[in-house]
Amino acid sequence: MNKKEMLYEGKAKKVYATENPEVLLVDYKDDATAFNGLKKGTISGKGAINNRVTNFMMQLLEKEGVPTHFVEELSERETLVKKVSIVPLEVIIRNISAGSFAKRYGVEEGIVFAEPTIEFSYKNDDLGDPLINEYHALALGVATKEEIETIKKMAFKVNEVMKAFFKKLNVDLVDFKLEFGKVSDGTIVLADEISPDTCRFWDSTTHEKLDKDRFRRDLGNVEDAYQEMMKRILGE
Ligand code: ADP
Ligand code: UDP
Repeated sequence: MNKKEMLYEGKAKKVYATENPEVLLVDYKDDATAFNGLKKGTISGKGAINNRVTNFMMQLLEKEGVPTHFVEELSERETLVKKVSIVPLEVIIRNISAGSFAKRYGVEEGIVFAEPTIEFSYKNDDLGDPLINEYHALALGVATKEEIETIKKMAFKVNEVMKAFFKKLNVDLVDFKLEFGKVSDGTIVLADEISPDTCRFWDSTTHEKLDKDRFRRDLGNVEDAYQEMMKRILGE
């Protein structure tokens, strides 16, 4: 399918129209940003890794009964996805304390929760993606009660599937961000990406960080960590 005009250039991906109005082409970039775009850089090879890792995870989740936007991997960096209307919520699931949770509540990183937590951020770069609760989301009209219930159920299911999958790779799934969207008939599907950019991965034995925190925190060996995760996930 041919790329048509570019509809959107984000921080990590470019999105193009295709000949099929229901299908978009996503092109993954090596650009990396953190802290709402304040820190900028490049992670060489990241686009190709995130494309392949995302597509692998989306197909695994489909097999486990989670509907996703995935259609077809076209090349190293390009994938066809179902066009959705993105629900403007970043859905964050946490199994272990880290990042903004640890900072916000003044706790150390690494506390293993008895139950996973869920939180939402309102997807709005100008406002810095503020934390939002379900009532606020309803008040702002970003989703209906039923849609929020569906999204929560799907997000916890994704967590169960991913946690078990990563455990076998000797990786602890610390936390991650999901985005959901609606296809033309209103069905909610999992969209966007699942990659070392959007998840925290810790080696279960060494607790080494194998994700974007290496970039955010200037820990070095960023490319190696992305490569290592791709190797473990794809088994190559
Ligand atoms: P950002 O917008 O945060 O800079 P990206 O660079 O990843 O992020 O851009 C990709 C954009 O495409 C995001 O805004 C994301 O919500 C959106 N998106 C992801 N999947 C789909 C889809 N299936 N249909 C429409 N938009 C999508
Ligand atoms: N996350 C993301 N995009 C965002 C914010 C967070 O992919 O805009 C992911 C992040 O990689 C981590 C999880 O969501 O896996 C939780 O992030 P946190 O709230 O701790 O924020 P951060 O430490 O990134 O500021």
